[in-house]
Amino acid sequence: MTNPISLAQGREYLAIPGPSVMPDAVLQAMHRPSPNIYDGELIEMMPALTRDLRRVARTEHNVAIYIANGHGTWEAALSNVIAPGETVLAPASGRFTHGWAEMADAIGAKVDLIDFGTSSPWDMERIADALRADTDHRIKGVLAVHVDTSSSIRNDIPALRALLDDLNHPALLMADCIASLGCDRFEMDAWGVDAMVTACQKGLMTPAGVGFVFFNDKAQAKRAEMPRVSQYWDWQPRAKPELFYQYFNGTAPTHHLYGLRAALDLIHAEGMEHVWARHERLATAIWTACETWAESGALHLNVADRAHRSHAVTTLRLTDERGTPLRQFTETQLGLTLGIGLGMEDWNGYFRLGHMGHVNGQMVMAILGGIETAMAAQNIPRGKGALEAAAAVLSQ
Ligand SMILES: *Cc1c(COP(=O)(O)O)cnc(C)c1O
Repeated sequence: MTNPISLAQGREYLAIPGPSVMPDAVLQAMHRPSPNIYDGELIEMMPALTRDLRRVARTEHNVAIYIANGHGTWEAALSNVIAPGETVLAPASGRFTHGWAEMADAIGAKVDLIDFGTSSPWDMERIADALRADTDHRIKGVLAVHVDTSSSIRNDIPALRALLDDLNHPALLMADCIASLGCDRFEMDAWGVDAMVTACQKGLMTPAGVGFVFFNDKAQAKRAEMPRVSQYWDWQPRAKPELFYQYFNGTAPTHHLYGLRAALDLIHAEGMEHVWARHERLATAIWTACETWAESGALHLNVADRAHRSHAVTTLRLTDERGTPLRQFTETQLGLTLGIGLGMEDWNGYFRLGHMGHVNGQMVMAILGGIETAMAAQNIPRGKGALEAAAAVLSQ
């Protein structure tokens, strides 16, 4: 089944959907002594840092920074606008919406969950029915996961905005862009998103540990009506600090800020439009290869419709629970780590490819070549010509 000798020595490649590959420029920016946290460079870098974060999110509005992972930003966003007893609507097309909904439940919110399963995008008609039935506007927020990293579904945020507008429903549109920001096109202001959460370890290419909540004036108006907000999660002083320590409610995540600064420089030097186009092209090459393999019937792309596939992550399923052995082969024999199946009942059949952030054409060909090699070693039936098909996409 497996090669007699391992070929995993050499630079390993973690191709999971976060943490993503960190650019050398990010690592090098962090390799330095701690700065003075009361005076000087660190304090002076903040206005440009928050400006450049807002440019990634395409918003003129506010950003609050937290020393937290994505789960922390879920709680942060909810804590500012959803009081105990208030209702949120959670249209779920994968594990992560359930996670956010569970967090809402834990802070005392009532959760209306619409479950679209693990391989279907939102059905706008069913969401419309739920909003229409809410005649007294109990629903205060819609928890909208843009790209669900477990299923790799990309949902249509502008369509959800249009629906809320058509129905004159005042609920806040709250987006989770933890997987999608800096990968899939997202335009907070143009799309009418009221609050958006993200974290630094995916498209933003920085080690896990810092999260962000972006919010507009409508979200701030709801914040202002809250009976109480925990001091630590309160986004107001973080977004509009009078003193430097208020950005972080304590010591700044010094080295993360240096890493993030380097990552934002890379992103803006490339340009947002190019970043999105690159991710789209790389994702298309991956899909094309996977569709070719899938001709055998042994491999399936989790999301059938290309229009609803993320450009940051791809979820695949192998029959006979062969996902886990395939991953083990690529990791131990080739030095290539692929993502586990997440949120799926027969998760050993699934595996995921992360292609978010600091990823280029040769890295995508390495992922695909690694999978081809593992399938060859494990005698998994597959359509022929997958790598050639991917090369054709990348050479256009
Ligand atoms: C990664 C991810 C999360 C969770 O982020 P953590 O940093 O692991 O807490 C939430 N939502 C989405 C869409 C994600 O991709």
